[in-house]
Amino acid sequence: MSLNRTLRAQNLVSAGLVEADRTEEIRRVAKEFAVALTTDVAALIDVANPADPIAAQFVPSGAELEFADEERADPIGDARWSPVRGIVHRYPDRVLLKPTLLCPVYCRFCFRREVVGKRPAILDRSALERAFDYIRQRPEIWEVIVTGGDPFILAPRRLADIVRTLDQIPHVAVIRFHTRVPVIDPRRVTPALVQALAAEKAVYVVVQANHPRELTPRGREALTRLSRAGIPLLSQTVLLRGVNDDAAVLEALLRGLVAMRVKPYYLHHADLARGTAHFRTGIAAGQRLVRSLRGDISGLCQPTYVLDIPGGYGKVPIGPCAVSAGGEAGGRTVEDPAGVQHAYPPDPEG
Ligand code: SF4
Repeated sequence: MSLNRTLRAQNLVSAGLVEADRTEEIRRVAKEFAVALTTDVAALIDVANPADPIAAQFVPSGAELEFADEERADPIGDARWSPVRGIVHRYPDRVLLKPTLLCPVYCRFCFRREVVGKRPAILDRSALERAFDYIRQRPEIWEVIVTGGDPFILAPRRLADIVRTLDQIPHVAVIRFHTRVPVIDPRRVTPALVQALAAEKAVYVVVQANHPRELTPRGREALTRLSRAGIPLLSQTVLLRGVNDDAAVLEALLRGLVAMRVKPYYLHHADLARGTAHFRTGIAAGQRLVRSLRGDISGLCQPTYVLDIPGGYGKVPIGPCAVSAGGEAGGRTVEDPAGVQHAYPPDPEG
């Protein structure tokens, strides 16, 4: 079995992923934002295709240095809701816990691109203990979402410590991990890592996948190891221009995930992160895509199309609505998957 190595900005030319005349462009991007991909991910790239959807996600481009006025360094307002280092407490019943800001790969559209891969990258023991204390002292916290960075980059021993500590906090009912590892770096999902997730409380794993070519046999094996351990699997997909803003591509991705026992959870409208305008679609285009999936693919495959309101005001569904006012005598009109309108009676309460 070949080794899975990390490629940094300075390795991309020798790996054949970019032409030598782009060395300076890549160097300038890497000064601003972290760059890394694995040789496993590089092997998925069709270098003959300048618009390859895997390359677009991981190989840096000079377009990232074009900053649009509406873009922000902290697009979803994490800092505003961060009472102690490593914690984001935006909603009453749940917090984000960010034990690391490192990832095995750095996505070119990342909404935390100003902080991932930069120092300080790891919460040291005392900072982690302060984060746990924050959770312990607040009985309203029902769910802890362990994110980052990518928490599955941590050694299984450190992950097990986090799970054990959260498992012992009586009011925490759910421990949720957000990770890209099972899909883009599945070799890290070792039996030791799976064992580290064992808990009395419910542990969920939410994986990010954006294109059907990311769903490899090795990724399937990693996901199977997690699901056989009784861990429910969900997915998040970022809607990305040139990567998955196409009904057939999204359909293949969503069907592929469900066939790997992963329930599609969110389809994210791309955030206003700096230097990512080339990835963003319009909301109307996203709604057209979601509408085109409705009726064509199983309800199991349908994620909720969501937007994080810039500035930290929370996540809201922005998918097309099938029901509108306008039927007779206070009734409504409902649109079927083929776009045909039907009358529906008024609400019973008037
Ligand atoms: S894995 Fe997640 S946190 Fe890491 S670069 Fe990609 S989107 Fe950002």
